[in-house]
Amino acid sequence: MIVAMKADASAEEIRNVIDRISGHNLKALNMPGGERTAIGIASAIPPDLRVTLTEMLERLPGVDRVTQVSRAYKLASREFHPADTLVSIKGVTIGGDKVVIAAGPCTIENREQLFEAAKIVKEAGGKLLRGGAFKPRTSPYSFQGLGVEGLRLLKEAGDEFGLVTVTEIMDQHDLDLFLKYADVLQIGARNMQNYPLLTAVGRTNCPVLLKRGPSAMIDEWLLAAEYVLAQGNDQVILCERGVHPLDRDHTRYTLDLSAVPVVKTLSHLPVIVDPSHACGNWKWVSAMSAAAVAAGADGLIIEMHPNPSAAMCDGSQALKPDTFTDLMTRLDAVAGAVGRAMA
Ligand code: PEP
Ligand code: MN
Repeated sequence: MIVAMKADASAEEIRNVIDRISGHNLKALNMPGGERTAIGIASAIPPDLRVTLTEMLERLPGVDRVTQVSRAYKLASREFHPADTLVSIKGVTIGGDKVVIAAGPCTIENREQLFEAAKIVKEAGGKLLRGGAFKPRTSPYSFQGLGVEGLRLLKEAGDEFGLVTVTEIMDQHDLDLFLKYADVLQIGARNMQNYPLLTAVGRTNCPVLLKRGPSAMIDEWLLAAEYVLAQGNDQVILCERGVHPLDRDHTRYTLDLSAVPVVKTLSHLPVIVDPSHACGNWKWVSAMSAAAVAAGADGLIIEMHPNPSAAMCDGSQALKPDTFTDLMTRLDAVAGAVGRAMA
């Protein structure tokens, strides 16, 4: 439910509406706008209270109208927050008119590999450096990442090359550690519905990159974002990374590009695309990167490895440095064609 105040509503009238909402043990959110203030009710309203509450609020001085938010997610919805959310990290803005690229290896393997990747990302115009330190591997016998040492290397490389860092957190108990080393907390596809983890990152003010689970419907994904927003952290970037496929012979997942315009209509949060995990094969990554930018994605997160054939994880989908650099040049024209520019 959203209470739109009149343009000339006084601070006292706004306070009164908030107090009345809180008096019903509901969470009221004060959302000052350019011309007028709106007050949102973030809690679930008991069905028997809905009509009385609407009528009571409509009668209060300073109230223009009360509208119902029809969707299960509220804070993540455009109804609640019509303007695009901009996520800003160290001078890089995601969700504005520029398309932002994050790239780097799937996994941080050693200093040399990561620093070489960072140099290539920087020189090609990427703004974020990705790299996993704690990896969610299907098999417990596969390389699990360098752990804390990987986080330290990532921070060092980010500082040295002036890149914003993004890395996956799997366990909320590691939060303090990640806050010390990472600029953006990635919630991986497997953890999209790990509610304690979503709640924990929601209590920070660190930007969160929330990947879509491969079996998640769009509303489930937005409800996962709602968990983060409901704790007060509004710096959420959504990431489409492919859904369970019909055909596994040629691609790893199926990149759901229609999710980009759909989610940008339903929500104010920025949406980026990970073509690498969707395709599973470097050969399709450039085409799907271009398609994602054409579809209106606010950015891409791409796996790139200085030497993919030697990669410890996801080598088959990693772009070689030359292919990545070439793609970056070609994306300029695609972004321009849809009224955007590369950051
Ligand atoms: C990753 O980004 O390295 C990763 C594991 O991605 P996803 O969670 O999308 O599978
Ligand atoms: Mn990977």
